[in-house]
Amino acid sequence: IRVLGIETSCDETAASVVMLEDAPAGAEILSPRILSPQILSNVILSQVEEHAAFGGVVPEIAARAHVEALDGIIEAALADAGVTLADVDAIAATAGPGLVGGLIVGLMTAKAIASASGKPLIAVNHLEGHALTARLTDGLEFPYLLLLVSGGHTQIVRVAGVGDYRRWATTIDDALGEAFDKVAKMLALPYPGGPNVETAAAKGDPTRFAFPRPMKGSAQPDFSFSGLKTAVRQAATAIAPLSEQDVADICASFQSAVADALADRVARALLRFRTDYPDKAEPALVVAGGVAANRAIRETLERLCAENGFRFVAPPHRLCTDNAAMIAWAGIERLNADMADTDAFDFAPRSRWPLDEVSTPVVGSGR
Ligand code: ATP
Ligand code: MG
Ligand code: FE
Repeated sequence: IRVLGIETSCDETAASVVMLEDAPAGAEILSPRILSPQILSNVILSQVEEHAAFGGVVPEIAARAHVEALDGIIEAALADAGVTLADVDAIAATAGPGLVGGLIVGLMTAKAIASASGKPLIAVNHLEGHALTARLTDGLEFPYLLLLVSGGHTQIVRVAGVGDYRRWATTIDDALGEAFDKVAKMLALPYPGGPNVETAAAKGDPTRFAFPRPMKGSAQPDFSFSGLKTAVRQAATAIAPLSEQDVADICASFQSAVADALADRVARALLRFRTDYPDKAEPALVVAGGVAANRAIRETLERLCAENGFRFVAPPHRLCTDNAAMIAWAGIERLNADMADTDAFDFAPRSRWPLDEVSTPVVGSGR
């Protein structure tokens, strides 16, 4: 089975073809690993440069850029995969959550292709794509924990099966990537801020500023970053004008506060997972989202997992950030689990679409 995936929910225009070999007739499928999925192509066009001047993603610019790029990106994905539309068994497109302009472009294009070619159309939740990526890359078995840390999301999700997701924690204010971007902005570092904060932090003293660790020790499982962001602003204002070393010290202190706060929240979730699944032989924590690229955060989480007997799974960066391979794969998973609405022509894009709400099967909004 081959599925064409389309992703346009934020500032990446992406298309991909993913293939899963059919199981031999009558074979009992014990693990997706046995069927070894293959990413035949994974084309991603980032709009970062178009938004850089504005210091963040501008929805109108994003939507226009998707319109201009998408057809070419889909053609490139088919060509890279060495297939034509005729070789594709279904079209899967992100239908939410995200910026509605971009979602409309991707989903409408997918509807047009599906309708013209007579192929099934699957509307995919973007977060489900992130949630299932570790099965594409590592053949991970259910259940496992997902920490999604991106520009738009900061969540811990318990993934127990296709369509079986529970959000255990979310941010009550800023997403973590957003906090990185805002800190970068107040320190006059270029957009997108995350990588630049990390680079500056490498030369800084993480102990110079004692920033708060929001929610640390709290009985509520959620995240919060706006208080930390404010503390950073106050510290920066107090010592302005900032030398290069000041900026480095602030970045290092911020990053260490973030890693510490994250570790506390994740540790809590690992404990809960142990309690809920006492018999799970090799429990695993998967990280996804752009912030997962941060080395300090990664190392902190890796250590935490080792200490708690959890396997730490970090898919390659290209599959951790927004991409269409994860959307195609989510389509394949839904088809395999017999949980796909393959006739999603009346499915309207949803800017807000929590992962908990995709449970079995996703059907069009019009029925
Ligand atoms: P979403 O996937 O939630 O819709 P998004 O497209 O903004 O949102 P990603 O593309 O996965 O998410 O990630 C982008 C975010 O990751 C940005 O906020 C960026 O600053 C952050 N980021 C990228 N690299 C790093 C890094 N090395 N350290 C910290 N943050 C980083
Ligand atoms: Mg992005
Ligand atoms: Fe994403």
